[in-house]
Amino acid sequence: MLSVPAYRQGIAAPENGFKLSSNEIALDPLPSVRERVIAAAGGFNRYGDAGQLELRTRLAARFGVTPDEIHIAAGSVSILYQLVAAACAPGDEYIHAWPSFEAYPALGLASSARAVAVPLRADATHDLEAMADAVNERTRAILLCTPNNPTGAIIRREEFDEFMRAVPRNVLVVLDEAYREFITDPSAVFGEEVIAHYPQLVILRTFSKAYGLAGLRIGFAVGNSAILGAAKSVSIPLSLTQMAGEGALASLDAEAELFERITEISVARDQLAAQLRTLGFTVPEAQGNFVWLELGQNAQALADFFAAEGLVTRAFPGFGVRISVGEAESIPRVIELASRFMSELARVAEEG
Ligand SMILES: *Cc1c(COP(=O)(O)O)cnc(C)c1O
Repeated sequence: MLSVPAYRQGIAAPENGFKLSSNEIALDPLPSVRERVIAAAGGFNRYGDAGQLELRTRLAARFGVTPDEIHIAAGSVSILYQLVAAACAPGDEYIHAWPSFEAYPALGLASSARAVAVPLRADATHDLEAMADAVNERTRAILLCTPNNPTGAIIRREEFDEFMRAVPRNVLVVLDEAYREFITDPSAVFGEEVIAHYPQLVILRTFSKAYGLAGLRIGFAVGNSAILGAAKSVSIPLSLTQMAGEGALASLDAEAELFERITEISVARDQLAAQLRTLGFTVPEAQGNFVWLELGQNAQALADFFAAEGLVTRAFPGFGVRISVGEAESIPRVIELASRFMSELARVAEEG
């Protein structure tokens, strides 16, 4: 373990600090969205509209599916739990990559399903061949994350199609596209382009990230209505709030404005990744609203060093550190501190 200066975590003055650990949008909600959510909040003595037909109808039109082939829930994380619970009996397996979304390993706990983690390739992409090879007679589901949280690397369309040819028809494949809107690499697989080809495929999207509704809790799945029906049947009824539904509808209305923000974030991401590479960090292709620094045993040390200076990031000990693209003012701070950390590493290495 590298010895870095003995800074302590969690002492940042809030006015100097930045939270870059949850891949949220740092900008305030758009006024039009906020107003509609506040208007909906006026009626919270009533349960929300659980069916969300208007939202499902609008989303269905975009994906070329029927409203039955859209399932909305209080966050796409809750749909992940539903899908694993619906697909797996005790002792069954589901496969996911690692490092990947931190929720994946625990999804099967409630249903006593076993999570099988397949290491990423050296370039931080999904090892789809190894994932297909990990399928056995107990496998019920495979979770794919593109761009992968935390590494930012995408799955390419070509390798995705090849993977789908290798996977048995009765294994559910979930394409978690929580960061879909930030992708600028045209070779990526896009759920909306492949959903019609594969009956066993479910794609997951969320309003939490690019749409900036993380605190409202709303996400959705697109896929075969029988699979989604099974997910619904294990869901907790009435979890979705009317505020979340109205926030999502208002966000669709405000998409032009939202997508200007998203474009700016993707540009800032590319600049940040390039600058960090110039400093000597290993940064895989970043296609979400975050960058990944591959640090191995130095991961926790970098996160602690940042935290002591008021930057909260997400460490995956032994692997790396994920940094969200946050407030514009946070970016020079990230660069400056990353540069200091690199000098410190070099100094320690020199001292042996
Ligand atoms: C943030 C995130 C989610 C979305 O979570 P919500 O429950 O919709 O807020 C899903 N998958 C991944 C990989 C994420 O990073």
